[in-house]
Amino acid sequence: MNVFKFGGASLKDAAGVKNVASILQRYASDSLVVVVSAMGKSTNALEAVVAAHAKQTGEAPALYQALKEHHYAIMRELFEPGDDVFNIVNDTFVEGDWVLEEKPAEDYDYMYDQIVCVGELVSSKITAAYLNKIGLRTHWLDARDVVATDNTYREGWVIWDKTKANTQKNVAPLLAKRGFVLTQGFIGATSENFTTTLGREGSDYSAAIFSYCLDAESMSIWKDVPGVLNADPRLFENVVKLDRLSYKEAIEMTYYGAQVIHPKTIKPLQNKNIPLFVKSFLDPAAPGTEISSDTEEAYPPIIVVEKNQALLHISTNDYSFVAEQHMARLFAKLAELRLFVNMMQNTAISFTICVPNVPERLVKFVKDVSDEFRVKQENDLELITIRHYNEETIATLKKGKMVLFEERIRNTMQMVVKNVPAIERRTVELERAKG
Ligand code: ADP
Ligand code: ASP
Ligand code: MG
Repeated sequence: MNVFKFGGASLKDAAGVKNVASILQRYASDSLVVVVSAMGKSTNALEAVVAAHAKQTGEAPALYQALKEHHYAIMRELFEPGDDVFNIVNDTFVEGDWVLEEKPAEDYDYMYDQIVCVGELVSSKITAAYLNKIGLRTHWLDARDVVATDNTYREGWVIWDKTKANTQKNVAPLLAKRGFVLTQGFIGATSENFTTTLGREGSDYSAAIFSYCLDAESMSIWKDVPGVLNADPRLFENVVKLDRLSYKEAIEMTYYGAQVIHPKTIKPLQNKNIPLFVKSFLDPAAPGTEISSDTEEAYPPIIVVEKNQALLHISTNDYSFVAEQHMARLFAKLAELRLFVNMMQNTAISFTICVPNVPERLVKFVKDVSDEFRVKQENDLELITIRHYNEETIATLKKGKMVLFEERIRNTMQMVVKNVPAIERRTVELERAKG
């Protein structure tokens, strides 16, 4: 059996749903688990609902209503009036209404997960209903009956043993029947049956969880790009498609922020040697990119830009050396606050790290270590990572930037930069490395 994942971009409107159905038509006789995300930018819209509810601005019901209307408009293009799906979807939206009728929960992240999951739930119900309507038999599955997590809301950690057992119990019998199994990405449940989410863009990871637990032959994620490119096409021109990538290369790219695949996706696939295909939903017959076992290829320079970074310059209050026990304390605090270090460097009395700029976590970090350390913070920075770099690429990427921090280790070059003018589209000549 195989696992397919369709993201928000592929399901952004009625034409998108029809296109996904036409892709699935080509696999009508296959054993498939189909994982879908929320439609288009629904998750952002739901985040706005949660924020408004938490602040009690009074706007939450209207924002939520607009999202419902958007889905109903899509459904009117796909179904006849009076189709059961209207009631099914309405019932799901009502679950969000119940949360909004209550006072905002004290735990923001908990409340977030109980509302934001609605995006995936309605998207999967609409898609499954449409597939059944056109004769592609499809069994809808609640991913929360399979993906078991701890209660780290908004970043649920998968409990693998339980998830594997749930897969045997709840997915295998559906797969044994004729037809597709269609479920949601991004969501799971705690042992007390509260909904969790796996982190933004987490549907790719969900598909990998299903692939791992089901020993899939392959997994395919269907995107609006021809495959994995050597740089983000929204930032760079003249990008090239990578036909093949090793798991290792894919992990390195996604770890530093290549948004095409969620960073947690590769590990479960690598662990079971399951190939991952990144394919275009606009050109389904094209081969896309294959990510598989660790045969190293000759790669062109691969560029990953991660925005919204901060540099923290940390020094001891009493001018003592930044020694191992200081590092141990600083890292324990960083781990506790889930501040992930992208780059670091130390001198005798200072230690510099590059971390994503999550203001509430950084404020807490600075406060919690202030008895021993002074922290100077620089914001609005970008981290640029170049794998398989050459001097020409580095020079091009440095144009219009002030480089604050730079490092080269083996085939990876990283720099933290400040844009001199506002971010503008860059044209970069990226040439495939020879040999
Ligand atoms: P989904 O619809 O599955 O959520 P995403 O929008 O999250 O898909 O991911 C696809 C997008 O990732 C592309 O539209 C592209 O703009 C962006 N992207 C960033 N870096 C890369 C890269 N190296 N290769 C391909 N796409 C990239
Ligand atoms: N819908 C979720 C998000 O937008 C998960 C995903 O699309 O992968 O983050
Ligand atoms: Mg996405």
